[in-house]
Amino acid sequence: MANAAIPIQLATAETHNGMVIPYIALRHLDGTPEFGQIDHDRVAECLIEQRCQLCAQPLADAAVLMVRPMDFGAGHCPEPAQHPECAAYAIRACPMLSGRLRRHRDRTRPQRRQCTAAGCWCGDPVTPDLDAIVRSGQPATPWYSVWFPMAEYKLKMSARKGPRGISLAIINVKIRLVSWGDPDRDDLGRVLVYGLPLPEAGSGS
Ligand SMILES: [Zn+2]
Ligand SMILES: [Zn+2]
Repeated sequence: MANAAIPIQLATAETHNGMVIPYIALRHLDGTPEFGQIDHDRVAECLIEQRCQLCAQPLADAAVLMVRPMDFGAGHCPEPAQHPECAAYAIRACPMLSGRLRRHRDRTRPQRRQCTAAGCWCGDPVTPDLDAIVRSGQPATPWYSVWFPMAEYKLKMSARKGPRGISLAIINVKIRLVSWGDPDRDDLGRVLVYGLPLPEAGSGS
């Protein structure tokens, strides 16, 4: 894990191995986080209450979304937004977003840790998250940061299951390439269709 400097507004946030534990990260009953797995209730809470997925504080004037090409295709970002400062930290600290991990870890194998807390979900038979199965072993998708004013914050709702995510039908938007990764053909098609930034020549990944 990276040792990115923790910004001041995250000074009181919980950490694990020197990394801030995102508010939406799934936790074991003993309190340790399962990085890369999300707590769906907390995601819904952040989306609806316009809170930051990292520090859980209310978003202010502007926010940043971390978006993949496939999210532009769906028209919404499934993850809650972040404060611009929190997003900057996450980009430095998260190995996937900073391009240090070429591939998602394969989560289909029962490799996750088990804690000692009785009744924790990790004692259940392995039921990997559906999205994690789809992504496991796939080449790392490009990631973009999408800066937008909170005046344009709009949820996309599903019929029964609450918020799907934050609408990407945003007018005043600044899109930056965070990590090019190793895009597949579908990703490349979406990058062109949606006019997303390409890596600068000679910049590697
Ligand atoms: Zn924040
Ligand atoms: Zn556990």
